[in-house]
Amino acid sequence: MANIAFIGLGNMGGPMAANLVKAGHKLVAFDLVAASRNQAESDGATIADSAVASVKGADVVITMLPAGKHVLSVWDEVISSMGKGALIIDCSTIDVESAKQAHALAAKHGIASVDAPVSGGTGGARGATLTFMCGGEDKAFAAAKPILEKMGKKIVHCGGAGAGQAAKICNNMILGISMIAVSEAFALAEKLGLSHQALFDVASTSSGQCWSLTSYCPVPGPVPASPANNDYKPGFATALMLKDLTLAQNAAATAGAATPLGKHAQEIYKAFDMAGNGGVDFSGVVRHVRSLAAKG
Ligand code: NAD
Repeated sequence: MANIAFIGLGNMGGPMAANLVKAGHKLVAFDLVAASRNQAESDGATIADSAVASVKGADVVITMLPAGKHVLSVWDEVISSMGKGALIIDCSTIDVESAKQAHALAAKHGIASVDAPVSGGTGGARGATLTFMCGGEDKAFAAAKPILEKMGKKIVHCGGAGAGQAAKICNNMILGISMIAVSEAFALAEKLGLSHQALFDVASTSSGQCWSLTSYCPVPGPVPASPANNDYKPGFATALMLKDLTLAQNAAATAGAATPLGKHAQEIYKAFDMAGNGGVDFSGVVRHVRSLAAKG
């Protein structure tokens, strides 16, 4: 069993750290917020006084932080205190450029590194059913995999440094766009007098079929477990979808890729977010789509 340091014990990191303890690893944890540290302690982790103190003697260091600037700052702080042969894994969703910079920083200190953003939300974090999308060298990925398997059920090696983050934002751009497409189809069906169930029965078994329709239907009824049946409680909050679409737009601009629908989707979620819906599930965007008809 490994000695693991876990930094960033929020909505995702807290339950992920708890699953590593459950799997029998010795975990030293740190977060800036006292309530998160207390929760980790009651989940069986040892609490460190600082990020630097948490990594002393660790075989593996894991970070789960809000954005690229937090990851770069924490890695910069801790990396020179890590032992030779140790591995650092970042599971946050951050921009591809920051992820590459973080890998370069680790390499400069002779530390193996993996970017491993996740899909599956807080439910997946609690249930250890996350999907990990990984970037890094083969040897680093091979060392990270058995640790990630205690927090997730699908671990994919996507390529070199930053490839995990690239896969994450490409996937979420498809998701953001497809949820708007499905919402527009339901809004049109409503105007045409077609029932939600009729559209669902046809599209779910026809060429309009997609995850946003069949697993996460944005109107109540056809998919009982979707957030639409629970007043759009997240699930996956609009503010997080907007964050990921903004990362995708920044990456597209840097790489010189054309993503016109991704750009439009970002604008639509931004308007929905700014109307006070940041904490609403992203499938609630169907309400925004309907409201556009009233505006003409
Ligand atoms: P969160 O805000 O709940 O947790 C982040 C934690 O990092 C907080 O507890 C904060 O105190 C801590 N932190 C910030 N700076 C720190 C520092 N310098 N040292 C130590 N701790 C520090 O966020 P979250 O929902 O857990 O998400 C974490 C990451 O996972 C984000 O990048 C997010 O985009 C991504 N993500 C979230 C979800 C989700 O459903 N919540 C799903 C997939 C991916």
